[in-house]
Amino acid sequence: MALRDHHLSDDDLSSYFPENSGKQLDDNIRAAALIKQQTDPDTGWRRLINNMRSYSQNKSVIVSVKGVSVHLSLNITRTHSLTASTFEQSDAHPSESPCFLCDLDEEQKGALTLDDRYIILANPGITIPGDLTISSIKHEFQLITGHFEDMIRLSELLTDYSIFFNGALAGASSPHFHFQAGVKDTLIGEQQINEMLKGKRIGDAHATELFKTNKIAIYFIRNFLRPCYVCVSNDKKLSIDYYDQIYSHLLNIDREIAGIPNVPDFGHKIDLLGLDEFEPRMNIMLKYNPDSGTYMIAVFPKVFNRPFLYFEPSGKQIILGIAIKEALGHLITCRESDFYKLKQFPEIVEAVYTDTSLNSRLTDRLNGLLKSFN
Ligand SMILES: [Zn+2]
Repeated sequence: MALRDHHLSDDDLSSYFPENSGKQLDDNIRAAALIKQQTDPDTGWRRLINNMRSYSQNKSVIVSVKGVSVHLSLNITRTHSLTASTFEQSDAHPSESPCFLCDLDEEQKGALTLDDRYIILANPGITIPGDLTISSIKHEFQLITGHFEDMIRLSELLTDYSIFFNGALAGASSPHFHFQAGVKDTLIGEQQINEMLKGKRIGDAHATELFKTNKIAIYFIRNFLRPCYVCVSNDKKLSIDYYDQIYSHLLNIDREIAGIPNVPDFGHKIDLLGLDEFEPRMNIMLKYNPDSGTYMIAVFPKVFNRPFLYFEPSGKQIILGIAIKEALGHLITCRESDFYKLKQFPEIVEAVYTDTSLNSRLTDRLNGLLKSFN
C-alpha cells in the first residue's frame, strides 16, 4: 500500500473531532483526532495501543545535574529507535533493511498535509503521548537541504506542536525523510529554555544574547550541559536567514570533527545514503506562536548521537542515543540497569551530553560568528 493510501479524510476522522468546539478544522485538530483514532481499541493501530499500555508503566524520575533538571525515563516503547544504528557505518546494510516509513502496518493511518507532500502519523515510540512522525510521502533521504521551509510551514500549520528534526548522524532513526512533532512545551528542556529567555537562571545555565534587533534575537544557552542556540523572530525571512547562517557556520566548524574514537569523521561516506556527509550534525526544534507571530528555532550542534559509554563492553555499556528529545532534557533508556545507573550518577548524564555535543572551543567560535549576524 502506498504511503498516501494510509490517509484518513476529514470524513474518516470526523467522529474523533471535538464536538461544537467552534474552532475551524485545522491540522492541530486532525492530528489530535488521528491519535484518538489510532489508539481506539476497535479501529486503532495495535502496536500503538500496546505501546501506550507499556508507556503507562514507565518509570520516570527527575535528576538534577549541576542544578539543571533532566527527565530520565525507562521506556521500552523506544527500544527500536534507541538501538537503531541506521546511520552507523558498521551496521548499515542498505539493500537488506526495509524502510519502516515506506512500509507501514496496514492499520497505521495518517493525515496528509502540506500540499499532500507529507503524512502526519502517530509516533509509536512514545516519549509523551501525542507524539507525531511527519513523513515525506516520497522515500527521499534524511537531509534537511530543501526541507527547512517545509519545517517552517509545518510549524505554522501545527501550532499546538513543536516540530523536530534530527540530522542523519545526530540521532535520526530512519533514512526516509521525516520530522517529528510533540505537543508544545511538554519536554522539560523546552520549558527551561522558555524560562531562560525570560532571564531566569537554571543552575548556572542562562541565555546569553549574541545579536539583537527589534526583529530578531539570537541567544546562546550557556552551561546547559549541552550547547543550544535559540533564535526568536517575528520575521519569517530573517528566521530562514538565521538558519542558513548557522547551517553554513556549522558546516565549516564540523570539519574539525575528526579522529575522535568511535565517532565517524565529518564528511565520511554515509553508506546508507551512498553519499559523503555534507550537512552539519544537529538537532533542531522549531515552533511558531500564532498569537505573537514569532518563530523560535533551537539548534543543538552535535558531534554524534552516541556517547562514549555506548561503546563500552557489555557490563559497562549504556544504551542511549542523543537526539532532539534528549537535547530537550528527556533522556530515554530502554534497560532498567541503565536507568538506575543514570539516576544514581548524574555525572554520567553530564558526560553523555558532553560527549555528544560540540565542544566549548568550537561553540566559542560559533558564538563569535553569530555575533556578526547580518
Ligand atoms: Zn521509505
